[in-house]
Amino acid sequence: MCAAVSAGGGRAAARRLGRAGGAAGASRAQGTAGVPRRSKRRKSIAIAYESGQGDGAEQGMSEPQRPRWEPRAWRQQLERIREMRRKRDAPVDEMGVEKCYDSSAPPQVMRYQVLLSLMLSSQTKDQVTSAAMLRLRQHGLTVDRILQMDDATLGQIIYPVGFWRNKVKYIKQTTAILKQKYGGDIPRTVEELVQLPGVGPKMAHLAMNIAWDSVSGIAVDTHVHRITNRLKWVKKETRYPEETRAALEDWLPRDLWREINWLLVGFGQQTCLPVNPRCNECLNQDICPAAKRR
Ligand code: SF4
Repeated sequence: MCAAVSAGGGRAAARRLGRAGGAAGASRAQGTAGVPRRSKRRKSIAIAYESGQGDGAEQGMSEPQRPRWEPRAWRQQLERIREMRRKRDAPVDEMGVEKCYDSSAPPQVMRYQVLLSLMLSSQTKDQVTSAAMLRLRQHGLTVDRILQMDDATLGQIIYPVGFWRNKVKYIKQTTAILKQKYGGDIPRTVEELVQLPGVGPKMAHLAMNIAWDSVSGIAVDTHVHRITNRLKWVKKETRYPEETRAALEDWLPRDLWREINWLLVGFGQQTCLPVNPRCNECLNQDICPAAKRR
């Protein structure tokens, strides 16, 4: 694409230079006709690139596209984060959603358990979510079993996950919808997933990824939101995770969308903490715009 733009610009410039050359040629012709020259100093020729008069406009072509914006040094920063995450020993590695479901259960049950662990994980530490999932699984974590369970029992089992009272309500409502509308399975589009009570965009993208093995978008949680703003991986500062998701999806190569959540969540749990990030231990300290240097 760049080469084509360059070639087009070259042709336009050459054409204009041709016109300018014609004027200069006329001037030379005058000189040879005997008109006395005032000065032997060569005059510079101003070449104006007027909008809408280039080759593209003449041939009905669109404006050449500018190269897509991308953050400075992002590949180097990413590589160093991978290095810092090499041991895979953050809470998300040991107790994240991917470790919470029963991998020997039928696929439909596994997908339901993935969705439930995502619902429980919001505003909750991985350790607490993991323990609640373990207790739920001991009671039998299926759509039918949850529908049979009374709210008080469900509340006792999932306590102390964050906002557990609301989560009891959302889990019951969502499970009833799954039973009635999706035959007990979870939907397989982000649009349908976010319609379920208590399911937000981050959960929907993670559910698509983990339960359906499909990359639908970047899952932006509080860690991804914070770290990408610190590293200036967003063109201008973003205020909400959904803004961050759109800003990242604009430039980050799609083959990294799956990895980036896992990578940055663990990095945020161990090094780039919300308060007092451990910049002195961070391999990106010399190339991070937000680094605290002593
Ligand atoms: S240098 Fe500090 S703020 Fe920057 S990525 Fe590392 S830990 Fe985070």
